Amino acid sequence: MAEDVTGGPAGDPFAWTAAEARRRADAGLVRALRPRPAEADVLDLASNDYLGLTRHPEVTEGAAGAARRWGGGATGSRLVTGTTALHAELERELAEFCGFEAALVFSSGYAANLAALTALTARESLIVSDAGNHASIVDGCRLSRAETAVVPHADPEAVDKTLGAHPGRRALVVTDSVFSVDGDAAPLGALAGACREHGAALVVDDAHGLGVLGEGGRGALHAAGLAGAPDVVATLTLSKSLGSQGGAVLGPAPVVEHLVNAARTFIFDTGLAPAAVGAALAGLRLLRREPRLADRARTVAATLHGRLTAAGLSAVRPDAAVVSVRAPSPEQAVRWAADCRAEGLAVGCFRPPSVPDGISRLRLTARADLTEDQIDRAVGTILRTAPPSHG
Ligand code: PMP
Repeated sequence: MAEDVTGGPAGDPFAWTAAEARRRADAGLVRALRPRPAEADVLDLASNDYLGLTRHPEVTEGAAGAARRWGGGATGSRLVTGTTALHAELERELAEFCGFEAALVFSSGYAANLAALTALTARESLIVSDAGNHASIVDGCRLSRAETAVVPHADPEAVDKTLGAHPGRRALVVTDSVFSVDGDAAPLGALAGACREHGAALVVDDAHGLGVLGEGGRGALHAAGLAGAPDVVATLTLSKSLGSQGGAVLGPAPVVEHLVNAARTFIFDTGLAPAAVGAALAGLRLLRREPRLADRARTVAATLHGRLTAAGLSAVRPDAAVVSVRAPSPEQAVRWAADCRAEGLAVGCFRPPSVPDGISRLRLTARADLTEDQIDRAVGTILRTAPPSHG
């Protein structure tokens, strides 16, 4: 083993990467970059464009208009030159739409999670984190240098017990609202109950809930009656339902103000590009005008799930717009996705190490703008190309 990690001819400090590549290839886990095909050539069930807004003329014009007005980049960090009137407008409208007192926009959802977890904890803090949380939450916990207790997936009793074992400690519970691998929802009500019992804060990453869950897509926290609560913070991405790019943290005004002063991914990062802000604002206004988009995404998810499981495939009942279909092995998952692609259907493919339980999946996005014909075509292709043991 040792020579795989350190070996190689003297003078080539990266020779070990070739050994790593061989190991990945042997395990069927090579990841490759592939340019996205033109949308006319492929039916897209792989993206996170849940509401089909990213190419909407109002969204692309929102981006173009913002770039023309404010430039191609933000020109500096938010605290120096990187805050435009448009950033402030987006923050106001995001907070209002989701039901929070204040919002702060970041250059990505990843940076938003790092900000919340590092700036709202101290070394003496306890973070209680669901085992299925997104990698950006995992990294935020590590970067915080607080003690992190990883609890079993969607287990509020384990959260309660862990908090109870650390009385008097400053504590924060963090969870995805909808888990990105299986598309299942977190038990937010029970988690909030446990937090209140022990005086802990609740941080919820609503990346997959915004635009899909809650009244008119106001998100999972709105749906759970927790939006705007004094002990709750939400993190968001603008890159899924809103059809743009970027992230946000929403919460009580003093908490958001604290992030402005303490979150390193806010202070030392260039502000979100005006084009992304303009696109997100347009996406948000569209969503407010068309509240049925959120219902439609959930309906498409339920239809895909119902038809695939009726045909014998194993899939988790979707709580939002992610439909996760199990594959027998990483190799078969890759082949299945490639066969779909050859038939003009793009699907996501999750394999270790992205899936902590080692089970590979196809991941389907139930876009709100899919027509019944497109749903038929997608279901037909997935069933036709399924590995033998899967129908
Ligand atoms: N949280 C979750 C649950 C996600 O799925 C993602 C992105 N895929 C992120 C955070 C990161 O957001 P962004 O892509 O905007 O950095």
